Amino acid sequence: MIELDRVTVRFHTRTTLVSALHEVSLRIEAGEFAAIVGPSGCGKSTVLKLVSGLLHPSAGAVRLKGRTVDGPSADIGYVFQRAALLEWRSVRRNILLQAEMRRLPAADARRRADELIEMTGLSGFENAYPHELSGGMQQRVALCRALLHRPPVLLMDEPFGALDALTREQMNVELRRIWQETDTTVLLVTHSIAEAAYLADRVVVMTPRPGTVAELIDVGLPAVRQYAATMSEPRFAKVTGRIRDLLGARVAPE
Ligand code: ADP
Repeated sequence: MIELDRVTVRFHTRTTLVSALHEVSLRIEAGEFAAIVGPSGCGKSTVLKLVSGLLHPSAGAVRLKGRTVDGPSADIGYVFQRAALLEWRSVRRNILLQAEMRRLPAADARRRADELIEMTGLSGFENAYPHELSGGMQQRVALCRALLHRPPVLLMDEPFGALDALTREQMNVELRRIWQETDTTVLLVTHSIAEAAYLADRVVVMTPRPGTVAELIDVGLPAVRQYAATMSEPRFAKVTGRIRDLLGARVAPE
């Protein structure tokens, strides 16, 4: 579904040349949930920008469904750390913004919005405004907006980084369930080792800049995961331990 083939990205600034990624190769299969972890500045967001067509590689190729990415595509849904909702629009109308921008048939878009509102537990808040919602609920709205056009690929850049720990746990459980219900390929960037291991089937561990793939880890946990039970499995400890070793971190997982 997603393929990076020896991708190198260099940024020319006024004074320097920053080498962000160096010959990164990666394949994400259809329906897979993959997470990218790595130190700050190693090029995680750059990978997502390449896949979404916001950025072109300096060398190498980026392919989506076998075709070279040459610009933004309807195959992508994107969720950022900040929900970036329009304050003057209700929940439903924020979600429907995606349909307006893409000129989707209105009736179908409204049906899909209702489905997503239900799936993400936002029922009853359709007419609320962003300032009336908690951070977690705002991110649910952003997720609905990203999924409205049924993109086969969902890119998420630290989507829960600004949430408190408890809300983040709830969102993790819900995201895994929603992913199972929607048949989407997910590529998630996170700083949290535990979040990566709980959510993903494979974890891409990157090296410091210029980013390369240090290791691809098969998480190997059962498809259906219960939060606390999964985290107390020996396999979970093994996976998070391996990621931590690769990152050279000496701190406990979040
Ligand atoms: P991460 O998401 O892993 O923190 P990024 O992908 O955002 O890292 O950035 C990788 C490196 O490229 C960083 O050193 C960053 O400063 C640099 N970089 C990213 N975007 C630009 C840009 N538009 N111009 C110059 N340097 C950039």
